[in-house]
Amino acid sequence: MPSNPEIVVTGASGLIAKHTIAEFLRRGHSVRGTLRSLDKADDVRRALDRLGVDPQNVSFCAADLTNEAGWDEAIAGAEVVVHTASPFPVTQPDDPEDLIAPARDGTLRVLRSATKAAIARVVLTSSTVAIFYPSGRPVGHIYSEEDFTDETRPDLTPYFKSKTIAEKSAWDFIESTPGAPELVAINPSFVQGPAVDADLSTSHELYRIMARGTYPAVPCISFPVADVRDVAAAHVEAAFRPGIVGNRYLIGEGQLSLYDLGHIMARELPDLRSKVPKFELPDFAVRAMAVFDRKLRTVLPELGEKKAFTNAKMKAELGLVPSGADEAATAAIRSLRDLRLI
Ligand code: NDP
Repeated sequence: MPSNPEIVVTGASGLIAKHTIAEFLRRGHSVRGTLRSLDKADDVRRALDRLGVDPQNVSFCAADLTNEAGWDEAIAGAEVVVHTASPFPVTQPDDPEDLIAPARDGTLRVLRSATKAAIARVVLTSSTVAIFYPSGRPVGHIYSEEDFTDETRPDLTPYFKSKTIAEKSAWDFIESTPGAPELVAINPSFVQGPAVDADLSTSHELYRIMARGTYPAVPCISFPVADVRDVAAAHVEAAFRPGIVGNRYLIGEGQLSLYDLGHIMARELPDLRSKVPKFELPDFAVRAMAVFDRKLRTVLPELGEKKAFTNAKMKAELGLVPSGADEAATAAIRSLRDLRLI
C-alpha cells in the first residue's frame, strides 16, 4: 500500500464526514468525497478551510445511495472507503422504507463497488442505535459491541431500523462475498462537538429547536455522547490499524439528558436562558403525546432506562482518548453561536 493512499468518503457534506475528511487531510492523505449533488462541493471546501485544512487535496464525485450511477467511478482506484452517507432526518417518515432502502441498498452498492475495485478496507459509519436495542436484556445490562439491535422490535423508529439493517446487511455481505473488502464498523452515540457550517446534522438541529423556545419541557431521556472530533479520529484509525478487522466500535463518553443540554446552553449563552426546557415530562405524558406528535415517537425507546455502556474497546483498540460529554456539548453550542445559528 502506498504510504498515503487515497481515501473515498461517502456523504462528504455530512457533519461526521467533514471532520473525518479534515482528519485524513491533516494526516497527508488525499480524499475523494461523494455528494448526491455536486452543488455542495464548494460548501464542503469552505467547511474544510474553516477546520484549518487546505482543501486542495479533495475532489468530489456525484453518487446517490438510491441508484447505481457513479459509485463504481467514485470508488475505483482508492485504497479505503469510509461510508458515512445515510439519511438522518429530524422527523421520522410515515413509511420506514424511506430510510431503510437508501441506508441498506446504498451500503450494499458501496460494498459491491468496493469489491469490484479491490478496495482493501471499508469503514462503515453505523451507530449506537444498532447496539442499544436488542431484545431481552435485563435492566442494568452494560451495553457493548457484543449487543446488536433487534430490528423486529415494534418500538424502533424507522431511523433506528435503517441503521441496524444497514450494518447487518454489510456484515452479511462481507461474509458471503468472495473477494469482499475488510470491514470495520464505527458506532457513534449522539454526536456533539463543533458544527462547521449551516448545513446542520440532526444532532445539532436540536439546539436550534431548543433555542426557539419550542420545548418548555422535555422527555426524561439521556444518551451517551460522542464528540465529532473523536468520531472522526475513530474513522481514521479504523482505516489502517492492523488487527481490528471484523470489529465494531462503540464511540461515546459520558451521558447527557435533554434537560442537561438545555442547561449547558443556558450556561454558555445566558441570553437563551428563557428559551431552554424548564422541566422534564413524566414518561406516561410523553407516551400519550407521541400519539399525536411524530417527532416525539423518536424518543419512545429511550424512556425509562438510562443505558450503561462500556467504551473500553475504542480506547484499547483505536487508542482514543475521548472528550467529555459536557465539553462536546459546549463545543457544539459555541460553534452554533459563532456561526450565528442560535
Ligand atoms: P448529516 O445529516 O450531516 O450527514 C448525512 C449525510 O448522508 C449527508 O452527506 C447526506 O447528503 C448523506 N445522504 C443522505 N441521504 C443520501 C442519499 N440518498 N444519497 C447520498 N447521500 C445521502 O449527518 P451526520 O454527519 O451526523 O451523520 C453521518 C452518519 O453518521 C450517518 O450514517 C448517521 O446515521 C451516522 N450517525 C450520526 C450520529 C449523530 O448523532 N449525528 C450518531 C451515530 C451515527 P446531503 O447533504 O445531500 O443530504
